[in-house]
Amino acid sequence: MSTSSAPESAQLMEAVVSLAKRRGFVFQSSEIYGGLNGFFDYGPLGVELKKNIRDCWWNDMVRRRDDIVGVETSIIMHPKVWEASGHVAGFSDPLVDCKVSKNRYRADQLFFAPVIIDGVTHGYVSALESEKTTEDLQAAAELMKRKKAIQGTLAPVQPRDMTEAKPEEIALIPSPATGNPDLTAPRAFNMMFQTNVGAMTDASSVAYLRPETAQGMFVDFKNVVDTGRVKLPFGIAQTGKSFRNEITPRNFIFRSREFEQMEMEFFIHEDDDWAKWHRYWINWCKDWLLSIGLPESHLSEYDHLKEKLAFYSKGTTDIMFKFPFGVQELWGIAARGNYDLTQHANASGKPQDIFDEATKKKFVPHVIEPAVGLDRIFLAVLASAYAEEQVTDEKGNTETRTVLRLSPRIAPVKVAVLPLLKNKEALVARAQALYKKIKRKYPCFYDEAGAVGRRYRRQDEIGTPWCVTIDFDTIEKEGDTFTLRERDSMAQKRITEADLFALLEEQVY
Ligand code: ATP
Repeated sequence: MSTSSAPESAQLMEAVVSLAKRRGFVFQSSEIYGGLNGFFDYGPLGVELKKNIRDCWWNDMVRRRDDIVGVETSIIMHPKVWEASGHVAGFSDPLVDCKVSKNRYRADQLFFAPVIIDGVTHGYVSALESEKTTEDLQAAAELMKRKKAIQGTLAPVQPRDMTEAKPEEIALIPSPATGNPDLTAPRAFNMMFQTNVGAMTDASSVAYLRPETAQGMFVDFKNVVDTGRVKLPFGIAQTGKSFRNEITPRNFIFRSREFEQMEMEFFIHEDDDWAKWHRYWINWCKDWLLSIGLPESHLSEYDHLKEKLAFYSKGTTDIMFKFPFGVQELWGIAARGNYDLTQHANASGKPQDIFDEATKKKFVPHVIEPAVGLDRIFLAVLASAYAEEQVTDEKGNTETRTVLRLSPRIAPVKVAVLPLLKNKEALVARAQALYKKIKRKYPCFYDEAGAVGRRYRRQDEIGTPWCVTIDFDTIEKEGDTFTLRERDSMAQKRITEADLFALLEEQVY
């Protein structure tokens, strides 16, 4: 018998981060030197889970389709790429400095409100963006009223972010670090990491670590068209590292400075129905997320407001995910017109058009871009798969089991093979033979240490969907059957080797 629950927000996040460390999914980068903010390492199980998510995406997005091809482009590209794409001029976030503490804040994540009592402004309060920004500001306003012993009725706070602050307000808004008005006005901070290529370190050698993988697909567009036997509509996909010098990396691997993206540029005829394709890709992305086990209840859509879109953009819809710290963007699906190819055609002097046999005219294709962060999916997967259950055994003892309900598609270990006892040669020999056979095709774990119940729990915690136990029935009775124990229901049944392989073949794809 079991009752299952996911801990609430803050505790859930803590539990996920702690499990990630404890079981070797994710570590802080350079931990022995105190870590480096915004950088992470993936441990033995994490690297498997991440690879499985990436492989599922690649198989479904590229290999199993006839209309999409893959590329792998370099991380450092010609600096003119980033001028043409608009990143040198505009890939920035608004930054606010605290002049005293030297802390830096993203202006759109730092909120403030005037403290208004009986219609008179008595000062300002500030708070960082969180699930409860308004409550924090209200509490700070009440504290100010009490401290200054002001009589009257405090108006409910009206939060605004620092990008909306007037100069005379900036002079009064307290820094979250010092409590005094030490903040600068917001200024644009370019998030691209700069480096130098070659021995010279002057302006002529400046290059950038790519802040997105997408430009690689645009810059290679002609190469793919000329060599890839592709016909519109078609897509070019890649996965790979991107780098952004985020002002405030936070929420574990949700927003980091080095992360991996999985992006696809889907090129369509200029007269094609972009809205139809946009919808097609939003649905595809949602279905794909469900196929790797994310719960539908956690997914939603957010349409970017028309007036906030870049001038060339026809529309952007984000697939949002309910993370423990709130509903946030997981996957952006943008209809970008023919902006990127046109920019590169103009900047390089190399036309990026395609000849239309039907109309005998040349045109620059339009593009729909689904862009997602692999690390963000990883976090969404961990957070929604994590559960703690109260389990009562047949003797009436209750204990908590931690279980990761990972889809078999992405689970780092697909099956664990457990001989009932480690000192019975026949059991161990049969278990070893089965283990070696499974391991040729599927990630598999062999464990003979400790009570079987404890071994099941260890596998539950890392999301292994099935355990097979080699017991006395296996070696003494006809049929060569094992006990198959299913992670989520904890149900057990007898199964043959052929049935086990059939199950794996069906569920792991
Ligand atoms: P955000 O608004 O969260 O900064 P964005 O809109 O700038 O994201 P895009 O440029 O559209 O993001 O990037 C595509 C995807 O890459 C995002 O949907 C997200 O999944 C992922 N991503 C972007 N920035 C980061 C980051 N700093 N860390 C991890 N993943 C990221």
